Amino acid sequence: MSEHGMGAPPAEAPRPIAVVGASAAGLAAAETLRRSGWDGPLVLIGDEPHLPYDRPPLSKQLLLGAWEPDRLLLRTTDQLDPLGLDLRLGTRATGLDAATRTLTLVDGVGIPPLEQGRERGSLACAGVIIATGVTARTLPGAEHLAGVHTLRTLDDALALRARLADGGRRLVIVGNGVLGCEAAAVARGLGHEVTLVGRATVPMAGTVGAEIGGLLAEEHRARSVRLRTGVVDGFETVNGFETGNGFETGNGFKTANGFETAGDRVTGVRLADGTRLPADLVLLAIGSEPAVRWLTDPSLDTVDGLRCDAYCAAAPGIYAAGDVARWDHPVHGRPLRFEHRMNATEQGMAAARNLLAELAGEGIDIPAPDRRPFAPVPYFWSDQYDIKMQAYGLTAGADRTETTVLDRDARRAVALYGRDGTATGVLAIGLPPRQVRALRAVIATPVPWEEARDRIRTATGSG
Ligand SMILES: Cc1cc2nc3c(=O)[nH]c(=O)nc-3n(C[C@H](O)[C@H](O)[C@H](O)COP(=O)(O)OP(=O)(O)OC[C@H]3O[C@@H](n4cnc5c(N)ncnc54)[C@H](O)[C@@H]3O)c2cc1C
Repeated sequence: MSEHGMGAPPAEAPRPIAVVGASAAGLAAAETLRRSGWDGPLVLIGDEPHLPYDRPPLSKQLLLGAWEPDRLLLRTTDQLDPLGLDLRLGTRATGLDAATRTLTLVDGVGIPPLEQGRERGSLACAGVIIATGVTARTLPGAEHLAGVHTLRTLDDALALRARLADGGRRLVIVGNGVLGCEAAAVARGLGHEVTLVGRATVPMAGTVGAEIGGLLAEEHRARSVRLRTGVVDGFETVNGFETGNGFETGNGFKTANGFETAGDRVTGVRLADGTRLPADLVLLAIGSEPAVRWLTDPSLDTVDGLRCDAYCAAAPGIYAAGDVARWDHPVHGRPLRFEHRMNATEQGMAAARNLLAELAGEGIDIPAPDRRPFAPVPYFWSDQYDIKMQAYGLTAGADRTETTVLDRDARRAVALYGRDGTATGVLAIGLPPRQVRALRAVIATPVPWEEARDRIRTATGSG
């Protein structure tokens, strides 16, 4: 009893750390928080109904039918249990008040229909990590058309796979970036007629440049993929931004959608030059939009992703990681955003550590890790047929590219990318792992062009 004869006020329950987005970046953040000593409540919120799973196999092994969904799980339930997560799947964050670190949550997908949209109330947090990734861009009206697909989620991939289960379909892929190219390779492997339509004159040109794109074009043609360059009638992007990975983003569409239809089913795609491409199936692989629309707090900058400082902080106590984050890369000296699998994990870990360091500074009793700028060597890979492409550093937005084709038939090549006289990125196709690792070292920080060129020649024995 206290001197006033009343019980002591109950100790205030510790506020949770909430991670929004239950995928690669979010899971890495949650695991790092626990590993680094956060033993308070930890909420992981994801609007998909599935346990966290890996996306790269969606356009490769899963689409091909070589792997089943179980194999994509990043962790089993048994592996997640020790984390002691308050795991809220099928739950969407619909708002964040950055000043009070308060989230608004709503039941979303994967919840019985009657309960959908039910307000779940708000969640006041000690800190928040936003890892909501990106969503597939689509065309106006596409969502109501049977036969038109996007490929971002497990459910998307399973739906497309089901439609590719019977051979001999005419598939038109709109978008000749990484995703479109990978899907084309799989669909050809399954025996479908594939037409790859893109604005870029060669596949993946925006990411890898014209010469490597030309090599890819040769491979796709050799596999009987029809390559068409053009704009789908009525589809147009505007307000493009340069992004770290070279995918242009934009938000303007004309109203016409470029589809030919019979009833509610797609029968073809029209190009701006009047060409009609008959289609049983259409895959829209036209890029993505960062999932930031729910972040309406005016104190947050959400132009092309959630803008963060070099520590991945968007505001005090609010951090971001993965595809959604646009942060000041300390080595490259400008804000960058990557849609790369490895970056999602590395940035999830970095954001978690930096958030904990900040909370320790605010007086929360936790071990304080060092607060460090996030300065990764960017890395991505792509698999098409038996081509494996791997790239380090920045390949997009280069003003200078030098490609050495080591063996045209075997599709072995190396390319160097740079800006303003400095080499910033390197890409390898068909090189042995030891050489690829050596290339990473060449480009770990920007190097004068000539020096990088010499070191690459040494590493690949091409000089
Ligand atoms: C088909 C495909 C193939 C790929 N292949 C490669 C490859 O070969 N190499 C490579 O380097 N990268 C590849 N990538 C990219 C890589 O998968 C991504 O970089 C990575 O998945 C990003 O992880 P993330 O956690 O940041 O975002 P995501 O994986 O997009 O996860 C974000 C999660 O947050 C959820 N979410 C969104 N908004 C909310 C909200 N408001 N509330 C709650 N939850 C929300 C989403 O539903 C999603 O589950 C590929 C991607 C795709 C789609």
